[in-house]
Amino acid sequence: MKAWDVIVIGAGAAGLMCAAEAGKRGRKVLLLDHGKRIGRKILMSGGGRCNFTNYFVEPSAYLCGNPHFVKSALARYTQWDFIALVEKHGIAYHEKTLGQLFCDDSAQNIVDMLVKECEGAGVTIRLRADVLNVDRLGDGFMVATATEEVSCQSLVVASGGLSMPKIGASPFGYKLAEQFGLKVLPTRAGLVPFTLQPEDKATLEPLAGVSLPVVAESEDGTRFAESLLFTHRGVSGPSVLQISSYWQAGEQVHFELLPAGRLTQGVADSPNQELKTWLSRYLPKRLVETLLEREGITNKPLKQYVPKELAAIEQLLSAWPLKPGGTEGYRTAEVTLGGVDTNELSSKTMMASKVPNLYFIGEVVDVTGWLGGYNFQWAWSAGWCAGQVV
Ligand SMILES: Cc1cc2nc3c(=O)[nH]c(=O)nc-3n(C[C@H](O)[C@H](O)[C@H](O)COP(=O)(O)OP(=O)(O)OC[C@H]3O[C@@H](n4cnc5c(N)ncnc54)[C@H](O)[C@@H]3O)c2cc1C
Repeated sequence: MKAWDVIVIGAGAAGLMCAAEAGKRGRKVLLLDHGKRIGRKILMSGGGRCNFTNYFVEPSAYLCGNPHFVKSALARYTQWDFIALVEKHGIAYHEKTLGQLFCDDSAQNIVDMLVKECEGAGVTIRLRADVLNVDRLGDGFMVATATEEVSCQSLVVASGGLSMPKIGASPFGYKLAEQFGLKVLPTRAGLVPFTLQPEDKATLEPLAGVSLPVVAESEDGTRFAESLLFTHRGVSGPSVLQISSYWQAGEQVHFELLPAGRLTQGVADSPNQELKTWLSRYLPKRLVETLLEREGITNKPLKQYVPKELAAIEQLLSAWPLKPGGTEGYRTAEVTLGGVDTNELSSKTMMASKVPNLYFIGEVVDVTGWLGGYNFQWAWSAGWCAGQVV
């Protein structure tokens, strides 16, 4: 049985970073992935340009059972460290919006960079390597793949979450954690479009393609000012993806289509203008028509509405309620919420306190970032931290 210092399971964002760092320390590293390509999620991320980090990374941009858990790793390997790596490799990038950094050319640049880092550090990468079994072997581990049995001192699980099963996502990491007696928090799809209740679908489906800036708010008061997109299946767009991570089945989401007070001002400024015409200054016309029809609001000059009617319309526009039927699920979700309980792990090294030399990094851990490069930054930071000690 061939003996390695470190085996990393999962050649995605976190696994590649960890393997390269461990290799640079002179560790003999084997990186395994059951897929036939390295970093498949990186390649399809950010519309093919990989939103690899964000200028404004901070712990509050992460959902985690223990909100303090992410602080150490994010502080030790920051967005500036990853940007420096990207610059060292001469990769051109730009800020798109809200601090989100994308490759100018292609996400392939990021994968190539990480592979180069691994190669330079002497990491052995094996693809199409299905891990069938893992067992304790002394202080280390024995890993059986379909073709070989190998041993290691440190085992790093970087097998990601459940989103996009078509490109290799698997519950492997959760099962392994449970095998070693670690708690795994319930998982659900995050950064995912909402589907609609049948009656909403019937009235809103004709709006497919309409998009507008809104503020989305979940029942716990979390708010995101980004755009909303109506689709044939439901609602999507950055505001919906963001708020979906804070949504629980059965809850409502509110969308601020127009800030409170704008209509009152409209009545004062343009009393003779009809509601539909006035609203169409601010909102897409198709949305205005659908909203008025759905809510049974008669169109007339603004001055003809009695105060009670105006208050109701203002309320509707400033907090349009929608009760999603569900989400599109792991098929289209960008991330998986929940996962290996952070209370089981050291926030400095990502090692399981109950199982020395077993590490969990990246999305398999109960850490989920906002949309906008935060998830990759978590993968780089956690991978780097583990890479310093394995
Ligand atoms: C469509 C899409 C777009 C995204 N865009 C962005 C973005 O622009 N910016 C951002 O920050 N985040 C983005 N994300 C989220 C981001 O891709 C993930 O958070 C990140 O890839 C997690 O890194 P990871 O290394 O933990 O897992 P992954 O990158 O998913 O890597 C896990 C690896 O483990 C392998 N694996 C799984 N099971 C096994 C097994 N049993 N045996 C061996 N190998 C196994 C998989 O094949 C995979 O290669 C996007 C996600 C999706 C789905």
